[in-house]
Amino acid sequence: QSQEVSQAHIDYHVALQALQEHGTRMVCTGKMHTDRICRFDYLCYCSEAEEFVFFHSNSSVMLPNLGSRRFQPALLDLSSVEDHNTQYFNFLELPAAALKFMPKPVFVPDVTLILNRFNPDNLMHVFHDDLIPAFYTMMQYSDLDDEARLVFMEGWGEGPHFDLYRLLSSKQPLLKEQLKNFGKLMCFTKSYVGLSKMTTWYQYGFVQPQGPKANMLVSGNEIRQFARVLMDKMNITRVEEMEKDGGSSEDEKGKKDEYIVLFSRSTTRLILNEAELIMVLAQEFQMRVVTVSLEEQSFPSTVQVISGASMLISMHGAQLITSLFLPRGAVVVELFPFAVNPEQYTPYKTLATLPGMDLHYVSWRNTKEENTITHPDKPWDQGGITHLEKEEQERILASKDVPRHLCCRNPEWLFRIYQDTLVDIPSFLEVLKEGMKTKPNVRRSKPASTVHPGRVREPQCQTSVQTTNEAKLTVSWQIPWNLKYLKVRELKYEVWIQEQGENTYMPYILPQQNYTFSENIKPFTTYLVWVRCIFNKNLLGPFADVLMCRT
Ligand code: UDP
Repeated sequence: QSQEVSQAHIDYHVALQALQEHGTRMVCTGKMHTDRICRFDYLCYCSEAEEFVFFHSNSSVMLPNLGSRRFQPALLDLSSVEDHNTQYFNFLELPAAALKFMPKPVFVPDVTLILNRFNPDNLMHVFHDDLIPAFYTMMQYSDLDDEARLVFMEGWGEGPHFDLYRLLSSKQPLLKEQLKNFGKLMCFTKSYVGLSKMTTWYQYGFVQPQGPKANMLVSGNEIRQFARVLMDKMNITRVEEMEKDGGSSEDEKGKKDEYIVLFSRSTTRLILNEAELIMVLAQEFQMRVVTVSLEEQSFPSTVQVISGASMLISMHGAQLITSLFLPRGAVVVELFPFAVNPEQYTPYKTLATLPGMDLHYVSWRNTKEENTITHPDKPWDQGGITHLEKEEQERILASKDVPRHLCCRNPEWLFRIYQDTLVDIPSFLEVLKEGMKTKPNVRRSKPASTVHPGRVREPQCQTSVQTTNEAKLTVSWQIPWNLKYLKVRELKYEVWIQEQGENTYMPYILPQQNYTFSENIKPFTTYLVWVRCIFNKNLLGPFADVLMCRT
């Protein structure tokens, strides 16, 4: 591998002199280790010590300069999983003068992104923790372009999905293991360390039971942008585009090409009556049913199939992350084994229901114990329980609902989630029909606009006193500046009126740009008035500056 990182476009002596004179320079974003990404000039890595090294000189920079708080607990998270104690990044310090006594450094000329993959064996983790965060971290820093070098420091081998990581840039990613090949001391000319957490939507239950992240910052739009770029890189032609290019009307072509995809797992967590399920689905929906599986075909071919599907059906599991490639308006049907509550395991539901993702999500749960096949004799990590005390085994076998638990080794959870399931057809169809009733047809109705109103302009109030206990308050304003460029289905304004010194306010929704309030308006009183614009019922604009209105 070492010849791949070419030394050609660097003048070695210039680089070495720069390192000796200037040392390492670090400037980071983020106030906390959990939201920090750092950019370095001349960050070095010592493969013997397996440590990154910061060289101090008169002109080195370290911002934030945390002193020993840098170890409480770390400078930053190397993976997108928040504050996980196996994923911390830090560096050792040395004076630049020590370079004289050290092995000659090898310089890496590429702009490098250094990160940890969290669990590269599992497709959900690959996308959610690594690919999407890396994609958007690279978009955040413009020199992390298609020529950027990725370095994975978690210490694992390539793993089964390495081809997906290769799509992030034109250069081969490096594994920690391979860094040795570059010599005892390597120095990254320019590097970024850490991953953006902006796109992650799920927490895996390390400190509290798993669930959607408390403060989600991503919408379906960003997920779909990512999906589109990845599909282009996999040379997948998208169905939506083919329809447009073909020029045939959606009604003509749309209907007869619709199909259902059944995602099949072939080693664990099986659907035992797949063939029957396929037959029933084909009959019920009058559509083709196609099966895909990670074991039996290439990932790009799976994505190609899913990207044109009307419905994706799968047992709960990492393969369901592929629903991010479904077209808008498609249905995701997630099946859960006996005693597993769908409400408590929602990485795919959360994805499907992100605003703007425009997928319809339905879950089905096996409630018939006679339809489940358990595997008590398997190893613990595939749900075996024979290593447990007899009493504990009996308790687990008698339980009909896995209680809330933390990640990752809860034996009752593993026992239940690795069951195979005979899907009960009547209850499955019932759930499907019930779920489809509320299905919005996104293909026909245009995706909802997400343009928010600007502030209303020139808000004003006029007051008059009628009698000793009657007064009037007229509030008026101009339309937000961006409205004149928009077609808005429904335009409303909201006015809040608060008597000064009171802690409650009266809200009013109005269709017009002025209104005279007389109810509850007292003479010789000061009112605080806020006005904002609302598009299409739920797109709220900002309030204009508060008005002080004295009657
Ligand atoms: N996997 C698969 N077929 C199987 C079992 C697993 O394709 O029969 C894949 C699965 O999608 C995931 C990885 O193997 O990418 C690990 O599966 P595991 O059951 O450990 O994780 P889970 O699917 O529960 O996240």
